[in-house]
Amino acid sequence: MRVTPLEAWIASKIALPAGQKCNLQAIKAYQLEKLRETVAYARAKSRFYGRLLADFDPDDIRSVEDISRLPFTYPEDIAGYPNDFICVSPQDIWRIVTLPTSGTTGKPKRVFFTDDDLELTVDFFHHGMTTLSDGSDRVMIFMSGSKQGSVGDLLVKGLDRFSCTGIVYGPIYDYEAAYKALVKEKITVIVGIPSQILALVRTHPARDDIAVRKVLLSADYISSAAVSAITAAWGAEVYGHYGMTETGFGGGVECQARHGYHLRESDLYFEIVEPSDGCRVPDGCYGEIVFTTLNRKAMPLIRYRTGDKAKFFTEPCPCGTVLRRLDHIAGRIRDNAKLKDGKVFSITELDEIVLANPSVVSYNAALETRSGYDCLVITVQAADTRESAAKRLEEELLKAVQRLTKDQIRLEIKTVDAEHFTPQVLKRHIEDKRTGCL
Ligand SMILES: [Zn+2]
Repeated sequence: MRVTPLEAWIASKIALPAGQKCNLQAIKAYQLEKLRETVAYARAKSRFYGRLLADFDPDDIRSVEDISRLPFTYPEDIAGYPNDFICVSPQDIWRIVTLPTSGTTGKPKRVFFTDDDLELTVDFFHHGMTTLSDGSDRVMIFMSGSKQGSVGDLLVKGLDRFSCTGIVYGPIYDYEAAYKALVKEKITVIVGIPSQILALVRTHPARDDIAVRKVLLSADYISSAAVSAITAAWGAEVYGHYGMTETGFGGGVECQARHGYHLRESDLYFEIVEPSDGCRVPDGCYGEIVFTTLNRKAMPLIRYRTGDKAKFFTEPCPCGTVLRRLDHIAGRIRDNAKLKDGKVFSITELDEIVLANPSVVSYNAALETRSGYDCLVITVQAADTRESAAKRLEEELLKAVQRLTKDQIRLEIKTVDAEHFTPQVLKRHIEDKRTGCL
């Protein structure tokens, strides 16, 4: 097994002298310097951080741990005052990404990048993708890429740096057409959104005529059900990537051990905090992922609350790297549905149950009001839409989901065919359609 290529990449980024092996102390020293610079820069240049950090002296950051004395930045802050985050003049803004704020009816978030900010991402994509591909591969990207500076565009640029062919297909609307494209283009590596690639596999389980050997899933929660189904059907190795627009698209990628993410630690500083009080939790304990950008110019983010739940491993990675390793995302902190006894469950828990059924192509979940009661409505796109098969699937799912919700909420499961199904694509969540009247 090869050590993650991110180790050598980070060693060069933090300017370790040639021959000196990458080590955590050197990474921490680099991060400390960059954290100080970022705090001073953001405080001086952005209106938001000028206000938030008015009383804070960047020289008071004497260790990377001292960053935890700074206040958090929330998605709502970006949605509320996007322009107040900008640190550069308008002509230096190269790309603006507008994102819906999931689970709330609030304003969309806007994230700004300079050309240099995007170059950092291309560089990460270049080195990260060498984990699973080389110059002989043909990579199809089932994510948006038509605009300059979009994730697909940046990935193609990164792949091109090691002579690897990247082809942007875009999000999938027609699984038959997407499968034909894989065959026609002799694709060996796929990059896509978990729910879409699972649906592609479930609608085309036989793989006689395709050459896909590796799949990188990104942009949303990766269920173990999806990983197992893709591996079983196509025999492909499945890798995970963790990142979001706010991290500059890229965040961390699995090595060949495929057991947690190595992070883009030269560009991002990650912490795990207890969601309720914001205190940092020790490695090995679950909490909310929080990150600070270290090199971003248009819109640095300081202690940004991602809403994603995970932990750092305490054991070294089987690949042998000195880099830290973030566990798979265990769910979301917000966007949850509440049961009668106060317990919550999320789309990520539903994914593990609903997607484990091989007859499910895709599904959506919503909380609705039925006769004055909360009802969880699960709409499933089924692989087999014949009436008897659909009925059997509905019964199986009802039993399986009941084990999670334990009769604390009414359930309704309905199967529909592809024509009547509109999948949620990015950041899938349990949609709240309750009327609130009893
Ligand atoms: Zn590793």
